[in-house]
Amino acid sequence: MDIDEFRRAGHELVDWMADYLRDIENYPVRARATPGEVLAQLPSTPPAKSASFDEIFDDFKEIVVPGMTHWQHPSFFAYFPANSSPASVLAEMITATLGAQCMSWETSPAATELEQCTMEWLRQMIGLPSDFEGVIQDSASTATLCAILSAREQASKWRANENGLRRENNMVVYGSSECHSSVEKAVKIAGLGRQNFHKVSVDDSFGMDPHALANDIMADKASGKTPICVVAALGSTGSSAIDPLLSIADICRRNNLWLHVDAAWAGAALIDPKYRWMIAGIEQVDSFVFNPHKWLFTNFDCSAYFVRAPEALLKTLSILPEYLKSQGGDDVRNYRDWSVPLGRRFRSLKLWFVIRSYGVARLRQMIQAHIELAQELAAQIDMEDDFERLAPTPLALVCFRYRPAGVDPKWKLDALNEALVENINLSGAAYLTHTRLRGAYAIRISIGQTTTERRHVEDLWKLIKKTARALA
Ligand SMILES: *Cc1c(COP(=O)(O)O)cnc(C)c1O
Repeated sequence: MDIDEFRRAGHELVDWMADYLRDIENYPVRARATPGEVLAQLPSTPPAKSASFDEIFDDFKEIVVPGMTHWQHPSFFAYFPANSSPASVLAEMITATLGAQCMSWETSPAATELEQCTMEWLRQMIGLPSDFEGVIQDSASTATLCAILSAREQASKWRANENGLRRENNMVVYGSSECHSSVEKAVKIAGLGRQNFHKVSVDDSFGMDPHALANDIMADKASGKTPICVVAALGSTGSSAIDPLLSIADICRRNNLWLHVDAAWAGAALIDPKYRWMIAGIEQVDSFVFNPHKWLFTNFDCSAYFVRAPEALLKTLSILPEYLKSQGGDDVRNYRDWSVPLGRRFRSLKLWFVIRSYGVARLRQMIQAHIELAQELAAQIDMEDDFERLAPTPLALVCFRYRPAGVDPKWKLDALNEALVENINLSGAAYLTHTRLRGAYAIRISIGQTTTERRHVEDLWKLIKKTARALA
């Protein structure tokens, strides 16, 4: 593809992108592909000869698009959102065009300094104290791994990295029984052993019970273990529970534990000061992660990891072979030392485009609108005798089930709700997923797509009622 062909194809592509976003409601939200259907349409050996852009693009439209689940569809209510925006998409095109490796200051000075700037903007936007410093990671999972590695190194007085873990094999990490699976994964990767990840029980609203945490820590210490870290969830993945940070912070301070906050999804809500009650106690927190790639209109991947004292992170991760020695010395930031991978994409560019393109006031309004829609839906669910909410709705995730009179036992109710979700997903009109709360099958409606409006939520609620009552 020469540069003239690139120009022509690029224009055609942007036209397709704009049409796709304009017409996205015409697609079924969840892919209708059956397992193996896409693979069967692809040659099993690589092409020896070159293909034109048009040939590749035609195959993309015919084979790939029908096999996609449309995450940017306004009726995507599954999981948590991975929302995006036109400004973010355009910035990603530039990032790809520049194709820069942003590992060190010298390899891309502007990328490094734009990351410093956008992380500082984000810090102010969500109300973190001024001594937090940010770095963009690929995912919240990686950020949480960085936190647990830092906690491990600090607790072992920097010996674990040096000598391995032989003598440090009794370090314990705590998270609530509702915390994200990435915490347990990080404990495993950090070499602490899954058995040293202790799941703390939760209260009625699925937030961590601080008394249980204090008791667990005491019991572990009594049996010769070394508690090192607590991961508090602000917005658990199952039901968006908010762990009581202030009480947890207090316990961490008394026991000298690293406190990491996982606000992967809910962190975006902090842009509205009304929700800053969630971070009461933040002064005691060591590290904090939230994903602009979930609910802040910045496409995947862009995870913001904030640390109070970068020294621990740097001491844990930095390594300097001869071939990486570069300009700038101590006057510049080398983000390669702030994350696990060496190579780094220019991710701050899309964040910069998003924040500037909307402005903070508009971003705040968009998040507020999602929360309002969820609150209205929760109120409507509460008004129906044959539906019940299964968890509080502090933000924009609603957990509930259909419960018509006379349907017992429990497995029948679970099966009925499972059928309800599957029927809606098969219809293509909307996409929902589920979780289990106290053992019960719970439908999750997560509101947070960039273009979701009131009518989409109203249509969904009508569809749910109609489908459910027809099933019963
Ligand atoms: C989504 C989510 C994660 C994982 O995020 P990734 O960026 O995909 O690693 C972690 N914690 C919580 C609470 C989440 O909602």
